Amino acid sequence: MKYCRFVSEAGPQYGEVVERDGALWIERLLSPFEEDPWTKPAAGAFRPVRLDSVRLLAPVVPRKIVCIGRNYRDHAVELGNEVPKQPLLFLKPSSAVIGPGEAIRIPEQSQRVDFEGELAVVIGKAARRIGPDEDVKPYIRGYTIVNDVTARDLQKSDGQWSRAKGFDTFCPMGPLVTDEIDPVAGVAVETKLNGEVKQHGSTVDFIFPIDVLLRYVTAAMTLLPGDVIPTGTPAGVAPMRAGDRVEVSIAGIGTLANPVS
Ligand code: MG
Repeated sequence: MKYCRFVSEAGPQYGEVVERDGALWIERLLSPFEEDPWTKPAAGAFRPVRLDSVRLLAPVVPRKIVCIGRNYRDHAVELGNEVPKQPLLFLKPSSAVIGPGEAIRIPEQSQRVDFEGELAVVIGKAARRIGPDEDVKPYIRGYTIVNDVTARDLQKSDGQWSRAKGFDTFCPMGPLVTDEIDPVAGVAVETKLNGEVKQHGSTVDFIFPIDVLLRYVTAAMTLLPGDVIPTGTPAGVAPMRAGDRVEVSIAGIGTLANPVS
């Protein structure tokens, strides 16, 4: 099932997305997480609307975003880093999240702000210390796209990554969440800058697969419904400038497009 979050007359709502007559439609309102009092759909009748007729919001409101660094060999090598022997984690603040179409703002503190197109796992139910033989699938609500925008110069000069990864607007997310793709079998992650392909990777090339990542993260911290785990970026990262347009595409999820200002 696919769902989105969008602006309706009743305020932000979650809606199931279906394909019909060659177009995507929001078919009905839903609550993406069971028994979550904060995501109850508005009461009353809902008439299906075309997805391209509404303003989409980031499809998840995460309490935390736990990112994986250097999870593709070729990206680790392109920045002159060693391939990690265990997953490399960092946190991105939820205040950095923006939706499809919203502008990534280049901060005055940085001279180099890069895109990083990534597949992201959306957690569906609380996960703590997932066991070595336990199936991780029941904890996964679905997958979306994150652009892990990074002030590359500050990442180096600060010595740690909180500020470089954490500016407002540095976490574009969307357009949908789907559970209909299989990253273990391999999904392509492609990033274009002003229409030119810059990144083209596949999740089959992960150094650490998603089950390993979720066991590693939940051995340290509890993951809650709506938490988001961006899984790392393939090679080809490059800087963006004001006036650019960046698009990250994953088949089955769609394209996350954002202008840069
Ligand atoms: Mg990244």
